[in-house]
Amino acid sequence: MLAMNFRRVLIKISGELFSSGNNGFHNDRLNDVCNNIINVISSGIDVSLVVGGGNIIRGREFQDGGIIKRETADSIGMLATVINGIMLREMLLARNVDCAIASALDLPFDIKKLNPFVVDRLVNEHKTIIIVGGLGLPYFSTDTISVVGASLSHCDAILKATNTDGVYDMDPNKYDDAQHLDWLTYDFAIEHNLQVMDETAFLLARNLKKPIYVFSAFEKNCFIRAINGEIRRSIVSEK
Ligand code: UDP
Repeated sequence: MLAMNFRRVLIKISGELFSSGNNGFHNDRLNDVCNNIINVISSGIDVSLVVGGGNIIRGREFQDGGIIKRETADSIGMLATVINGIMLREMLLARNVDCAIASALDLPFDIKKLNPFVVDRLVNEHKTIIIVGGLGLPYFSTDTISVVGASLSHCDAILKATNTDGVYDMDPNKYDDAQHLDWLTYDFAIEHNLQVMDETAFLLARNLKKPIYVFSAFEKNCFIRAINGEIRRSIVSEK
């Protein structure tokens, strides 16, 4: 399917898009993320969002100090995504975006239960769906729920903004001769341990046939421009 024919896309919003290098929130960054999302919606494409928590805590990094166990650290990480999701919902509602939050966790604050029936209804209503709390289980990152959310909400593609302008065959920060890949298969990404998404997410994306668009988060209006091929990007898909 051509990108211009997309009906709905899932955008993975890493927590660090909300901050400016440090933890927490930066007003300018929050506004940028909202405008970036609204530009996709204004072009006629419905949007699902999966929100990360990296600007507050990532379970795997926190447990490295051995202060708390992995499962607890991940629980805190999942709650961090909830905080970010509520922040994003407020900002989008203030800009008249018709949106709703859904989560696999049972949560207050008018957060709906993430299940296929609820998601179908939200999709039919053309709502912007904000998925928080990951899969509701430890040992995962929000990459995996991004693929699950893309499938549940019938998205044509997953958009993943990163620190580089796509996928390289080697780490471009370490190797000057690293080659940018305009297109690659899920199997290539898995075999070469390319760190754009975790392996579980790549395997699921392959099984569910969800293409992943990877591009630089530093480009202005990166989401719609990545869809339209106006900025450099890599596409991970089937052969
Ligand atoms: N997390 C989890 N299960 C999930 C999704 C997330 O336990 O299904 C926890 C995990 O600790 C993770 C944290 O929530 O590190 C925040 O998510 P992520 O690291 O993906 O955030 P991002 O780096 O995208 O901001």
